Amino acid sequence: MRLSKIQIAGFKSFVDPTTIDLRSNLTGIVGPNGCGKSNTIDAVRWVMGESSAKHLRGASMDDVIFNGSSSRKPIGQASIELLFDNSDASLGGEYAEFSEIGIKRLISRDGQSKYFLNGTRCRRRDITDIFLGTGLGPRSYAIIEQGMISRLIEAKPEELRNTLEEAAGISKYKDRRRETERR
Ligand code: ATP
Ligand code: MG
Repeated sequence: MRLSKIQIAGFKSFVDPTTIDLRSNLTGIVGPNGCGKSNTIDAVRWVMGESSAKHLRGASMDDVIFNGSSSRKPIGQASIELLFDNSDASLGGEYAEFSEIGIKRLISRDGQSKYFLNGTRCRRRDITDIFLGTGLGPRSYAIIEQGMISRLIEAKPEELRNTLEEAAGISKYKDRRRETERR
């Protein structure tokens, strides 16, 4: 499974609908300070269910919506869709038959998010479930941000264990057990 496209509209500095095509396995994003490089990564984490505004470098969740510039008015909603190429069926089970998987999140000014899986409305949980144990996901080790390496080096054993369990693919089962115990 490979991230092939990021479609952004109204998210942070991306006011107009923008498609980022990731045509190969290695893509570099370059540009001057403040041009939106980190916003692109925020976008990817946000769709996958990031629920902390702080982790998206904002104060409240609706801070991700374009809030105006010297020449443009603020707008009312933001949406992002990630398209994954799943032609190798590496995302198996019920998803194996889909050669492309689209996950989308939309937020309006009331702070409410809606999630969609291949165009059909779904729960946040359905999206996070897909990525659990894959290394990808809103807080996973697939996205290494500034300061994360030193945080890992200094992490308490329990925190380090969470990362190792995600890498080993165990977190998915632990999560399901927790969910079952809660019921
Ligand atoms: P650097 O090289 O400094 O790390 P960068 O390319 O990573 O820069 P970003 O952090 O992605 O830059 O983008 C910052 C820009 O995004 C700022 O100009 C900021 O005003 C703009 N921005 C962030 N949130 C919003 C928003 N909600 N509405 C409009 N613009 C926003
Ligand atoms: Mg940056």
